[in-house]
Amino acid sequence: MDNEDYDIETLAVRAGISRSQFNEHSEALYLTSSFVFNNAAEAEARFRGDQPGNIYARFTNPTVTMFEQRLAALEGAERCVATASGMSAILATVMGLLSAGDHIIASRSIFGSTVQLFNNIIGRFGVETTFVSPTDIGEWQAALRPNTKLFFVESPSNPLTEVSDISALAALAQQSGARLAVDNCFCSPALQRPLALDADIVIHSATKYLDGQGRVLGGAVLGNHQLLEGVYGFLRTAGPTLSAFNAWIFLKGLETLKLRMDAHSASALMLAQWLEAHPQVERVYYPGLPSHPQHELAMRQQRTGGGIVAFEVRGGKDAAWRVVDSTRMISITANLGDAKTTITHPSTTTHSRLTAEQRASAGIRDGLLRVAVGLESIRDIQNDLARGLDAL
Ligand SMILES: *Cc1c(COP(=O)(O)O)cnc(C)c1O
Repeated sequence: MDNEDYDIETLAVRAGISRSQFNEHSEALYLTSSFVFNNAAEAEARFRGDQPGNIYARFTNPTVTMFEQRLAALEGAERCVATASGMSAILATVMGLLSAGDHIIASRSIFGSTVQLFNNIIGRFGVETTFVSPTDIGEWQAALRPNTKLFFVESPSNPLTEVSDISALAALAQQSGARLAVDNCFCSPALQRPLALDADIVIHSATKYLDGQGRVLGGAVLGNHQLLEGVYGFLRTAGPTLSAFNAWIFLKGLETLKLRMDAHSASALMLAQWLEAHPQVERVYYPGLPSHPQHELAMRQQRTGGGIVAFEVRGGKDAAWRVVDSTRMISITANLGDAKTTITHPSTTTHSRLTAEQRASAGIRDGLLRVAVGLESIRDIQNDLARGLDAL
């Protein structure tokens, strides 16, 4: 099918399918580590790259290729390469595009393991990172160096849902000879397509909304052929590629992505509005609320506010923990992007490795809670939170 002619709902269900000799309707799961050649000349041609086709599952696998093509269609990318996890997608991007002596400018509000990767691992190989505000583009400009090669941002951010201006960052990156990579985990292509806003690279933790049911780990890097060649070169050599089974799960997940993201978003908006009116709630962070500082930008850049709501309760850590411990249905876990609603207390879990001063400057206060709104009824989610909140 010619992807240009179809809407996202259709692409999510049909893009990327390639059928075997059996003409199966649904995507087949190919569990094989290697592929055979018809003769010596064909083996030579495959290895030389003169003839397309599979060689070994660390390089390509037909189930993984179907997932890559479907996600590429959804993000509007020339090419997608799948990875074993979201973190290996970020690692492959850095290893594929940068060399010792290069410089990264990254938003301060990015996934904790990404900060560790940049500081403690990539940093040891001579690639330095400067962390700046996700919302103040002046800080990005001020951090520029002649050797700046990569901008890295996550929007909306975790847990405060700060929204970065992707088009403005893309323009600054382009002027400066750097590439902009966007971790699109919180929105997925159903809500936000960073390449259409001129970003160069999109990164996914497929573990979250692309699967959508909390079953398996995976990731992906998307962009143009030239940039992706370096990323793929790292992956096929170093090996953190996606397993065929996980790709098969993600192919199923993508079919319902748009429906799920619409449902997560509708419930998250209702929850955010209800929380904003609750007397024990000091502040709500949700891009879909007019009170959000980047509400207008978010509504321009994203189709909805997404499924993540953060809020501060009055009474600090004790009150926040009481709300967590009063839940009977919502899962107490740091994961997100699941059909099951989750709740986490960032300052003692995902952000506990920061010092108290770092948390204060990042705006992660002790009364802050983050809810990743699932697919249960909004009435049940609200009642589960009301039990603790009403008792404060
Ligand atoms: C979870 C997550 C990652 C890491 O993905 P894994 O699949 O756990 O490796 C990266 N970025 C964001 C925004 C995430 O939420």
